[in-house]
Amino acid sequence: MNLNQVNVTQIKGIGDKTAKCLKKLHIESVNDLLWYVPRSYIRYPEVSTVAEMRDIPDGQPVAVYGTVNRDFAEKKYSNVLISTFTIRDVKGAASIHLKIVFFQQTYVKNIFYPGKNFVFYGKIKRSPYGISIEMPEYYSLEDYNKKLSSLQGVYPLTKGITSKTIGKHVQTVINEFFPVNDAFSAEFIKDNSLMSLSDAFRKIHFPNNMEEAREARNTLVFHEFHDFLKQIEESRISNTESPSDFVINDFSLGDKYRDSIPFELTGSQKETIEEIRADISSGICMRRLIQGDVGSGKTMVAFLAMADLANAGYQCALMAPTEVLATQHYEKFCYDNANYGLHLKPVLLTGSLTAAQKKKVYTGIESGEYNIIIGTHAIFQEKVNFHNLSLVITDEQHRFGVRQREMLSEKGSTPHVLVMSATPIPRTLTLTLYTDLKISVMKDMPAKRLPIKSCVIRPALRKDAFALINSQIKEGHQAYIICPMIEENEDFQLENVMSYHEKIDHYFNGTVKYGILHGRMKPKEKTEIMERFAKKEIDILISTTVIEVGIDVPNATVMIIENAERFGLAGLHQIRGRVGRGDSQSYCVFINGSDNDKENVRLEVLHKSNDGFYIAEEDLRLRGPGDINGVRQSGDMQFVLADIIQDYDILMRVKDVLDQS
Ligand code: ADP
Ligand code: MG
Repeated sequence: MNLNQVNVTQIKGIGDKTAKCLKKLHIESVNDLLWYVPRSYIRYPEVSTVAEMRDIPDGQPVAVYGTVNRDFAEKKYSNVLISTFTIRDVKGAASIHLKIVFFQQTYVKNIFYPGKNFVFYGKIKRSPYGISIEMPEYYSLEDYNKKLSSLQGVYPLTKGITSKTIGKHVQTVINEFFPVNDAFSAEFIKDNSLMSLSDAFRKIHFPNNMEEAREARNTLVFHEFHDFLKQIEESRISNTESPSDFVINDFSLGDKYRDSIPFELTGSQKETIEEIRADISSGICMRRLIQGDVGSGKTMVAFLAMADLANAGYQCALMAPTEVLATQHYEKFCYDNANYGLHLKPVLLTGSLTAAQKKKVYTGIESGEYNIIIGTHAIFQEKVNFHNLSLVITDEQHRFGVRQREMLSEKGSTPHVLVMSATPIPRTLTLTLYTDLKISVMKDMPAKRLPIKSCVIRPALRKDAFALINSQIKEGHQAYIICPMIEENEDFQLENVMSYHEKIDHYFNGTVKYGILHGRMKPKEKTEIMERFAKKEIDILISTTVIEVGIDVPNATVMIIENAERFGLAGLHQIRGRVGRGDSQSYCVFINGSDNDKENVRLEVLHKSNDGFYIAEEDLRLRGPGDINGVRQSGDMQFVLADIIQDYDILMRVKDVLDQS
């Protein structure tokens, strides 16, 4: 059975409501659920007696075994149903009374009958009124003891769903659908010290210990790399040297465009453009990757290439991973188009357009009315028929290029393909991942650009970082603050976007305007916030790493990255690249929120260097054993678990296996 095609509603116990919650987490099929792996694990505490609760400090998680007393009561406070009762020790000895509290749970009165025994798991709350546990999980002693033997997954969540329910649904899938199809034979699994795919899913969700979780993860990563490299290999075989219908020899519009822009191209930009021109005049389909560090000016190169193909009467498409980025590219292109007399016909195509708007755009694309099509991947996912698509450029997303190329060829013609990436992948990796692409490396940075000044500090010095922001805002600049989490999460003491304004309010006292941005906002809301930031209506943008991809607001000159210890170096370098894009001096402050001094050593690499390639090499060198909870390094490679830098060794093993077969 292909679990990709089995909807989660087919799982016993999942109704429309839960399915809707899961969809928010991008879980639609049974396969999605299995790949939705915990981001960390906790071990449940051993069972304690009620008497032992006397000395437990406020906030500590406990599992307490007790007997329900005869004092069950329900009250309503401002429409909230509050159910309470106390428990005593099972062995009846003199003990304190521990209060159990539930909110809005109408059914609990049918569960907690006097004299019954339960294990209650939750956090101890101490107040002048006594000791209590609110909204505990509850189990029979037998069930709880079973739980004790394995680690419990903590999943990234959304409102309306808990880690416990996700775990429960995964368990149902395991009971009903396992074993799953395995791409590898038992012999292969043994030879490569992997687990079966079924075991890997079992153990990543319910490991007995961390070692097991790590091994399970390695197996899943192995599968991901295997699929990925195979796909590349297939597309390489089917695509080598196909003749092109779009042969360009007239570069006059590109030249005119280049001579009109208010800056001189860098040496790397010039070289790359020459390489592209050689490709598109050769009669063979171009397949080229531009690898250029953040801020190296890849967009300009893309625009120049599009100008020449469009001038020859052909269509070009530029695809960005997010609406924010697509909109930004579109606006920039429209500006150039109008100001430098290009007379091309650009259009923006994103998921936020209404159905009627989309239809109009589709018609215009099909008729050839538009020749520059800029948008999100929606362009290809939906039914778009091109008039004569000659060039596809994908920005900041490698993997896209590989898959979509196939789809495009199926649509008739074979366009030239240009893939742009800022992920500074070490050379050995590039050769593995891009066997099917020629590579242009853009090493030069636009002149006049001052290197970003970076430093690593402890949270205690945060106010100094705020002072820096303040002085930059006074000079008319703007700032980014990056947090690892969207909202507060009890399991991770990490800064989050939603409550960060408390710090801002406290320090700036209403003198600055801030906005927030995170991955769970609707694309349209994200675009709006970014536009307001670009228009300087917002001084400080508090964001998760969603800003990582390609945003260009040159007036922003300071960035603070909270909990920098949570990120890989290559990722941090990417994020930092959002500043230092204009003529002014820019600053980046990394806040190390861990007590681990080794972290400082690692983060100091960023203080020392602004060179993405050097940083990526150092990252590989300093990389510890695959951290199972690590924040993803290479955002634009869309693997679920795998990370090309962190899991470099596995990638190389998979490559060996494939080379031998
Ligand atoms: P990236 O390579 O990260 O995608 P962008 O294309 O967004 O970089 O370019 C970063 C900024 O540098 C933009 O504001 C762009 O207009 C500007 N820029 C590009 N090329 C040059 C150049 N040769 N000289 C000066 N500024 C440039
Ligand atoms: Mg870019």
